[in-house]
Amino acid sequence: QVVTRFAPSPTGFLHIGGARTALFNWLYARHHGGRTLLRIEDTDRKRSTQEAIDAIIEGLDWLGLDYDAPPLFQSDRAERHAEVAWQLLDAGHAYKCFATTEELESMRAEQRALKKPLRYDGRWRDRDPSEAPEGAPFTIRLKTPNEGEITIHDRVQGTVTVRNEEIDDYIILRADGTPTYMLAVVVDDHDMGVTHVIRGDDHLNNAFRQLPIIRAMNAIAKDTGEAGWPDPVYAHTPLIHGSDGAKLSKRHGALGVEAYRDEFGILPEALFNYLLRLGWGHGDREEITRAEAVELFDLDGVGKSPSRFDMKKLENLNGHYLREADDTRLAALVAARIGDAADEGLLARAMPVLKVRAKNLNEVTEGATFLFAKRPLEMTEKAAQLLDGDARTTLRKICDRLGAENDWTSEALEATTKSLAEDLGLGLGKLAQPMRAALTGTTTSPGIFDVLVLLGRDEALARLEAQAA
Ligand code: GLU
Repeated sequence: QVVTRFAPSPTGFLHIGGARTALFNWLYARHHGGRTLLRIEDTDRKRSTQEAIDAIIEGLDWLGLDYDAPPLFQSDRAERHAEVAWQLLDAGHAYKCFATTEELESMRAEQRALKKPLRYDGRWRDRDPSEAPEGAPFTIRLKTPNEGEITIHDRVQGTVTVRNEEIDDYIILRADGTPTYMLAVVVDDHDMGVTHVIRGDDHLNNAFRQLPIIRAMNAIAKDTGEAGWPDPVYAHTPLIHGSDGAKLSKRHGALGVEAYRDEFGILPEALFNYLLRLGWGHGDREEITRAEAVELFDLDGVGKSPSRFDMKKLENLNGHYLREADDTRLAALVAARIGDAADEGLLARAMPVLKVRAKNLNEVTEGATFLFAKRPLEMTEKAAQLLDGDARTTLRKICDRLGAENDWTSEALEATTKSLAEDLGLGLGKLAQPMRAALTGTTTSPGIFDVLVLLGRDEALARLEAQAA
């Protein structure tokens, strides 16, 4: 059975790149009828915060990514990690290193001077620990193969090979007995039964260092007859770049998903769809629902080159999903943005006309404010201009004619206004423009007859009267 995992480090919010990694893991598991798990990699206690943990969990939940078990916290598992380090030591796949900090520092200084790569030189690999002073502190280092090469058949990157000499005997257990990140990831993936590791390609180098642990543990398991430690399938996905091709930064939108929700007014299904299309393709289809994504997603469709984040595309998709979305749901979202003055029922009724052209919830909210404006209405400069000249006299006539209208429906109001325009020998626009200004205080709004209906007879007439000569 397929088991995937998302393993964020809670040192910041759930940014766009992380969200896409989470999405791919989730989709891969759902597509294959497998399980998907969440692991919070909080071993860096200084940089991990509860706030970040909450933001990540909330962000995933908002995107609709659910997990098949409660989150696992890496920091809870330090003892288990240490256990594996000692197992590796006992079986001869790791060794104690008694080199002091100063010693290692001067080793590196020498390497730097010779312009050699900075790598632990294996000085304790073949030495007898009894040569170390009594009670001297030590780290445990992995005995990685020195010769040959190691190859990964990555589902995205293809076949990638690294010479073993490039991988040094790195520390798996620190002198204070705490595990390193590299060890923790491998042990947790194994214990969680992870079969597929899907993550950013900034972790590809780590895979070459993590595999030797897996292979050593597998060898131990073979000897003891325990369940094996199979290599996971790796899929290292390209990073997301900004629209200018540079690595994604805050300027480009490397923000938390909550910024897309709160600041940019994006719907979760739109971000879901956008992140999916960012780096994964299925023909040139842009709009793909969650259910279709589960049906169609596979790693074969993940491209090898970095994808570019494009806010315009995201907003176009968002506009599509706004039009598809349930109006009661949108009304609640917009009401929360407007605050106490909002009336959700009215918003829900207005939603079909408010959302037609909107690309985000900010635009819907902006378009809705006229509904809850208090008299006397504030006017934009442009709206005020529309009330210059003969406009107020025209409004007077409109007030009188509409005041006599008993059928307050958009069809009847349109017919009445049109016949007045004919009587006055004016185009409909000459009437609609000052009406819009008087009714909404702006020059852009839904269709003017929809506005009249939404405001209701009393409020609409009062607003027209307020500006009429
Ligand atoms: N915790 C790592 C990160 O946030 C991911 C580790 C992994 O996926 O193996 O980048």
